[in-house]
Amino acid sequence: HASLELRGRIVKALSGYYYVLPDDAESQDATVQCRGRGVLKNKGITPLVGDEVVYSLTENGEGTVERVLPRSSELIRPPVANIDVAMLVFSVTEPALNLTLLDKFLVHIEHAEIEAVLCLSKQDLEHDGEETEAAAEAAASVNRIYSAIGYEIYGTSARIGKGIEELQQRLQGHLAVFAGQSGVGKSSLLNAIVPGLQLETNAISNRLGRGKHTTRHVELIEIGGGYVADTPGFSQLDFTELGIEDLGYCFREIRALSPDCKFRGCTHVQEPGCAVLAALAEGKIEPSRHENYLQFLNEMKDKKRRY
Ligand code: GDP
Ligand code: ZN
Repeated sequence: HASLELRGRIVKALSGYYYVLPDDAESQDATVQCRGRGVLKNKGITPLVGDEVVYSLTENGEGTVERVLPRSSELIRPPVANIDVAMLVFSVTEPALNLTLLDKFLVHIEHAEIEAVLCLSKQDLEHDGEETEAAAEAAASVNRIYSAIGYEIYGTSARIGKGIEELQQRLQGHLAVFAGQSGVGKSSLLNAIVPGLQLETNAISNRLGRGKHTTRHVELIEIGGGYVADTPGFSQLDFTELGIEDLGYCFREIRALSPDCKFRGCTHVQEPGCAVLAALAEGKIEPSRHENYLQFLNEMKDKKRRY
């Protein structure tokens, strides 16, 4: 019967139904409304948006999710499986660039084992006068620091259409989530990237920092053979899900060097024979990166002490 297996992807979940887009569907509207097979629940499996599934058709034209195929990743906020790209959006100004926050997002994305792609947004503001210099400097330092450790960086402006085609191409064939603090232009970028999409921008609740999407369900938007989640990811950046020993792993350049540290379990703070500290002294590691590493380490230690 294997050849008769129907496969598809869950693109939306709502009120106990999973909406499965068949792999061979010709349009995004061809979703099959499915219930989950009871045996999934017994096994403790909750199908997620983004899941690739095997489903069967029932007589009333609906379907049943029979099996969930192995996931490559699993996000909690928003609850989406198989995301493989996180577009981390930062604006060069308004709000001003904050490298500590950028590194915090990167830590969480690395921890989820999702590929981070940096996007420097609002690059039209560079020509706006007084702030020009600061914005240009911010963009230049991000380009220098993060390309050196292997991150891809795109410069964009939703307003003047800069970098939009490049992003569309980059997202092809992937399942992506957009991340970044509110106000950096994530919704505007998505609207520019996906023809016909009209996400609300600059929502009041957004400015209150509560996230305009928190009460909404997540839905995947099809784009060029890939998908983007319509809600921002990594909106909660505490370190509760991270162990202190995981932190170094989430900084690429520290991860690469730590096997050379003299002591196993080196935390790269002041240990003798630390390869990371040696690289820092030689100017091979960016000071801001190591400073942020130390700051996060302290935050995590503080938290641990309080319990
Ligand atoms: P989000 O909170 O990250 O989804 O950000 P929004 O897309 O809601 O945008 C926040 C604010 O930034 C809005 O006032 C937008 O008009 C503005 N904005 C978004 N993209 C751009 C851009 O490319 N250039 C400029 N100058 N402003 C932008
Ligand atoms: Zn070390």
